[in-house]
Amino acid sequence: MYVSRLHLVLYCGGGPVYVASASLVSDDNHAGSADGDTSHLVADALRKAERKAAKKARKATRRAEREGRGDPTAGQKPCDLCGKSVDLLVRCQYRGSRGEWRMVCGRCWNGTSGGVVDGDADHPEYRYGGLWKNRRRAQKQAC
Ligand SMILES: [Zn+2]
Repeated sequence: MYVSRLHLVLYCGGGPVYVASASLVSDDNHAGSADGDTSHLVADALRKAERKAAKKARKATRRAEREGRGDPTAGQKPCDLCGKSVDLLVRCQYRGSRGEWRMVCGRCWNGTSGGVVDGDADHPEYRYGGLWKNRRRAQKQAC
């Protein structure tokens, strides 16, 4: 009869995130079947540790987003004109949009509207239809 202790450590982002240990008690009289049980236990503990580590990683990502430290491009949408992903889009119609509402970034909006919210004499086909803001936007550190 012997006892062996298994330690499982998964590494995630440089540090050990989860340690699983299991005591395996094997009876010498049933060495054959004990070996089978051992590998089963190891696989089981590994699966559990992996699941736990994955869950922890998901949580960390969500927390980072909440605290404004997440992926700065999370939740962004592309401009219909230049294709750049931004946190703020202007919904508008303009010459060339053929009566359809488009979402454009601030820079492109200057070109479609002349830089005036309600448009100017040079942009008679321009119509303003609201703003879209990225609610998941990574917050800038307030000074
Ligand atoms: Zn644009």
